[in-house]
Amino acid sequence: MTNLSKKEYAGINYFRLIAAFLVVAIHTSPLTELSGTADFALTRIFGRVAVPFFFMASGFFLFSKTEAGKLPPGKLAVFLKKTTVLYAIAILLYLPLNIYAGKTEEWRYFPNLLKDIVFDGTVYHLWYLPAAIFGACIVWLLLKKLKPGPAFIISLLLYVIGLCGDSYYGIAEQIPFLKAFYQNLFLFSDYTRNGLFFAPVFFMLGALLAGPIKRIPLKTCLIGLMLSFALMLAEGLLLHGFNLQRHDSMYLMLLPCMFFLFQSLFFWQGKNLNDLRNLSLIIYLIHPAVIVVVRGLAKAAGLQGLLVHNSLLHFLTVASGSLAAAIVLVMLLNARRAPNAADSGRRQKDRAWAEINLSNLQHNVQVLKEALPAGCEIMAVVKANAYGHGAAQISNCLNHIGIDTFAVATIDEGIHLRRQGIKGEILILGYTPAARISGLYRYRLSQTIADAEHARELNGFGKPIKVHVKVDTGMNRLGESYQHTSEIASIFDCNNLNVTGIFTHLCVSDKLEESDAAFTDQQIRCFYELLDELKARQINIPDIHIQSSYGILNYPRLQCEYARIGIALYGVLSTLDTNTKCSLALRPVLALKSKVALVRTIAPGESVGYGRSFITPKEMQIAVISIGYADGFPRSLSTKGHVLIRGCRAPIIGRICMDQLMADVTKIPDVQRGDVVTLIGKDGSEEITAEQVAAKEGTITNELLSRLNDSRLQRIFSNF
Ligand SMILES: *Cc1c(COP(=O)(O)O)cnc(C)c1O
Repeated sequence: MTNLSKKEYAGINYFRLIAAFLVVAIHTSPLTELSGTADFALTRIFGRVAVPFFFMASGFFLFSKTEAGKLPPGKLAVFLKKTTVLYAIAILLYLPLNIYAGKTEEWRYFPNLLKDIVFDGTVYHLWYLPAAIFGACIVWLLLKKLKPGPAFIISLLLYVIGLCGDSYYGIAEQIPFLKAFYQNLFLFSDYTRNGLFFAPVFFMLGALLAGPIKRIPLKTCLIGLMLSFALMLAEGLLLHGFNLQRHDSMYLMLLPCMFFLFQSLFFWQGKNLNDLRNLSLIIYLIHPAVIVVVRGLAKAAGLQGLLVHNSLLHFLTVASGSLAAAIVLVMLLNARRAPNAADSGRRQKDRAWAEINLSNLQHNVQVLKEALPAGCEIMAVVKANAYGHGAAQISNCLNHIGIDTFAVATIDEGIHLRRQGIKGEILILGYTPAARISGLYRYRLSQTIADAEHARELNGFGKPIKVHVKVDTGMNRLGESYQHTSEIASIFDCNNLNVTGIFTHLCVSDKLEESDAAFTDQQIRCFYELLDELKARQINIPDIHIQSSYGILNYPRLQCEYARIGIALYGVLSTLDTNTKCSLALRPVLALKSKVALVRTIAPGESVGYGRSFITPKEMQIAVISIGYADGFPRSLSTKGHVLIRGCRAPIIGRICMDQLMADVTKIPDVQRGDVVTLIGKDGSEEITAEQVAAKEGTITNELLSRLNDSRLQRIFSNF
């Protein structure tokens, strides 16, 4: 986890713009008139920091590890998709240019086209996009399989191979074996400055700076930066002077330069302008087109001497033209996004909504992790739309903080999560009939085995299916009975079943009375005895899980690979009068809110609502509130519940309707239409907990929360 606050990324974003203009300089050589050497130093030596910088920034943000120390999945997929789409658009954009230049003729020979698309980028600057794709994938693989040290060394070796085919080729080609090697290599890629040899080491440096590499003080950064810049200048001028360069993208000193440069940028603080990201990317992508336009217009206007042949003016014209076009494009992009956001923003808080606090979710994960025995991981139970919290967003947030095991109730819940890009294992706790097995396979879902016959059905599908064996130890719901050892053993013999887990479910782990505790102990004993019998039959025991939320709170010492945690993740317990062995400082994730639609004064003796169940004893002020039982607020709270308005409690009066309810606000001054009403959650010093509401309704929070109606309530997620 990087400890950088967002503010400290500002320097990285500022430098993106500088890097983009350096690339423009590389392609316009602004100092040519002044001196060839000066231009070489600026564009072929200093300018070479630009692209590595972009790679490093991508590596830095892509591979910053989550709190659990794992690489966040999902981010890479998004990056690859975005880059590929961008690349496809760029290829199309420059197609007319390639047709004009006769390149499409070359492409009639297919390997030429392939080489251009995979390595060289079809236009001179576009190699950057496939290189970013390759670089990101290589570094992802290296970091997944290896420790940071060896991973870095491999990326460094790749860079050295590239170096000998680039700036140092004049030396390398003296050795016949190397010469032959590179001659062959150049058949596949015009330069070694590509995604294989050039990009990985910079992605890796970025990744390591987001993780294990320590920050160094500013003074060290600047001294290091100046020294390595000076050495790189000497290196470049020497190689150039001795005519050793085949190409001039890669230098030995580029590595320390980039290291110190990136470290220095952490100290460049200011407002974090996120638009600079898109702005610099667009400048990068369009400036060659702008060059063409500038040349064309200059020719038409007879200004070639000024705008093309004067290299400094040419650079300035292209740079400002690219900047202007990029600003317009960014504004258009933002404008397209903005109305939707504003519209949904307006829609979100106008009637009834649930506020989902993802920081509290993260807090609960942390607290639960600390409570779990070492080696036991959270299997996040996100069934029933994550207990009404929004399954996709909750799972996505959990994915980002390193949780990669989920449980849902149905196959459709599992498919929904996969379609939303959720990574890791997703276990379906309920029964899935034979007709749906192909969905399990296609979406890589793990299925709970309901009994041995179910296992045979799944096995009959003929392709590998991941399963967890459920053992019934007294709940008498799903699961093969613990007494049927042979039946359970037979499941492990099924060729097409990949058994990755075995579990049981406790049915009174929430109670601590002696008889309940005895029953639970017996369930646990039966389960472990079964495991012993399986072991005696030479069966390898897969991952074990027994506890759900109350199992963790009351039986924390069981040693399992997973705990299936539902309600506790959302920061509430099932009931109000909960007495558990350990108590955790959980924080509720959900608040339920609505708005006052109308305030009216009612004379004594009038009735309020359906059935005339409430008659005003005196003159009263009542508020009509835009939430009802169709939103999931229980009708049984009629005349019993409270809501919070302006930090005060207001009793619910009359019957709760399908879409509205009424509350007595006589004692609360100044209540107005549009006031926010809290049904679950805090308002000022007052709080109504989900446990209290559920208790009044005579149910458990699990039911209350999972019934909150997704199609009616808006969900508003606070960022974490
Ligand atoms: C729902 C469910 C859970 C989660 O229970 P909580 O009490 O919400 O933690 C665990 N295991 C199974 C089999 C379930 O069906």
